[in-house]
Amino acid sequence: MGDKSELEFVSWLRTKISSKAWVPVGPGDDAAVVQWPNDKPCLATSDMLLEGSCFILAEAGAERIGRKAMNVNLSDIAAMAGIPRAALVSLALPKNGGKQLAQQLFKGLNQAAELFDTAIVGGDTNAWNGPLAISITLLGFPGPKGPILRSNAKPGDAILVTGQLGGSILGKHLDFTPRIAEAQLLSQLTNLNSMIDLSDGLALDLHRLCTESKCGATLFADRIPISEAALQMKDDKTPLQHALGDGEDFELLFTLPALEAQQLLKDQPLKGLRITQIGEITKDGLFMEEKGRKFLLEALGYIHQFD
Ligand SMILES: [Mg+2]
Repeated sequence: MGDKSELEFVSWLRTKISSKAWVPVGPGDDAAVVQWPNDKPCLATSDMLLEGSCFILAEAGAERIGRKAMNVNLSDIAAMAGIPRAALVSLALPKNGGKQLAQQLFKGLNQAAELFDTAIVGGDTNAWNGPLAISITLLGFPGPKGPILRSNAKPGDAILVTGQLGGSILGKHLDFTPRIAEAQLLSQLTNLNSMIDLSDGLALDLHRLCTESKCGATLFADRIPISEAALQMKDDKTPLQHALGDGEDFELLFTLPALEAQQLLKDQPLKGLRITQIGEITKDGLFMEEKGRKFLLEALGYIHQFD
């Protein structure tokens, strides 16, 4: 984007974003000023979406892509049981039609940010002869119990998941709710040992959690909550394989002591969102139990490939 159009865009942006008490200086200066709660560390996460590889602009529409880009980052803050506070948004826009595209993207970005009381405080806007790229850096802080990590699952923990899994390609991958509020409530009500958001598929994300926690896990095949969309997928995979391997569910996978899990499952405290126990943490090895037999669980899922 030329200097003039970037200035214009920033002025336009400033009329669109609401002011937040904790942002004394927002977009427009060399850097933003963000107040931080005393004694809270900063959670920082970043995610980049690329046209062609992560989304098809013509199919999804810019507003939806903007919303998704923000929600993907919010989901990572949720996975730490964190509270989002400020986002930096960087756009690489195609030269042709870049201005209108930026405004549409921003509508979706702002909508998602506002829903979770997150201030868009700055970023960068540039244009080139290439496809659209959106990179967001999201800052937040942990709730009263501190950040919930991947690395603290304990043998004997129950493994639980929110919602239903698989088949997100049929729509949920674009339109989902990051589980910020749910993660807050879970961490208040229970002693979560570990948590991760399901971005790349249950089997792979569980594998990551177990690797970080230096433990194993056994999943119970008949307890995995399979989504309607996974049942509708028409290919050579079973619905269970979709629930295990499909990416972008953006649900929470978490572990906690078995006794507490029993109570939580009885109480079902998340409005309109079911919690299901799908397995247990063990000392080592990743297994699936199906009809009384035990299989090795492959860490299938979505891996971003590069040389
Ligand atoms: Mg994540």
